[in-house]
Amino acid sequence: MTSIKLRPKASVRQALNSFLNFLFPSYCLLCDAPLGVGERIVCGRCWARLEIITDRFCPKCSALLRKGRGICASCSKTGYYFSFNRSLGPFDQRYQTLIHHLKYERMTSLAVRLGEKLVFLLRTEPRFAPAEGIVPVPLHPTKLRERGYNQSLLLAQEVSRGSGLPLIDDALQKVRRTKSQTMLTFQERVENLRGAFRVKLREKVEGKKLILIDDVFTTGSTLNNCAQALLEAGACEVYGLTLAIAKGS
Ligand SMILES: [Zn+2]
Ligand SMILES: [Zn+2]
Repeated sequence: MTSIKLRPKASVRQALNSFLNFLFPSYCLLCDAPLGVGERIVCGRCWARLEIITDRFCPKCSALLRKGRGICASCSKTGYYFSFNRSLGPFDQRYQTLIHHLKYERMTSLAVRLGEKLVFLLRTEPRFAPAEGIVPVPLHPTKLRERGYNQSLLLAQEVSRGSGLPLIDDALQKVRRTKSQTMLTFQERVENLRGAFRVKLREKVEGKKLILIDDVFTTGSTLNNCAQALLEAGACEVYGLTLAIAKGS
């Protein structure tokens, strides 16, 4: 009787969940193990095993360094507009599956848990301390209509909520559709994205230190073009915060 008195709604929900799980058993997206009570999409074990880059990374792009310390080989040859990027983890099979489902399979609730992890990273990196706003990498309006949502905005909303930093999602826009970057080098990507991003509301970014949010850091060209547009519109400094980094060193 006491348990019913204490949390009637929770116990009803729990019973309903167990019943639904019995009818439609669900499995972890990453390891195929049956999901337990309260687990959704990914099991607790897999969330705990997700690799987080905490040390031995390039101070510019955050790629894991296999040998030694200091700036990685590709960053030593490249100048970026953003000050640095931090990625949660390497773009391994787990991150690849999570990001694919967040982006293309409408599993938008993944953004909540991944956003929490981005907030953890933000808090542990002292170089983010001066940041004054969160800016998602925008999608072109046509792409946004096709997909129905912008995964970077979903992540940015979570980061804003968790960090208390204001979300600035209407200043930076993608004004030109660009071709897929998969097979392009850094230089080709820079050319492909030239002029693709524009700041519409300068007053929202002027004089500010901003964190750009994106899903994957590959060569850094997307963050770089967004950072360039923000700096040219008067932003003071731009940092990158991304889910996974697809380059090694
Ligand atoms: Zn699992
Ligand atoms: Zn680097």
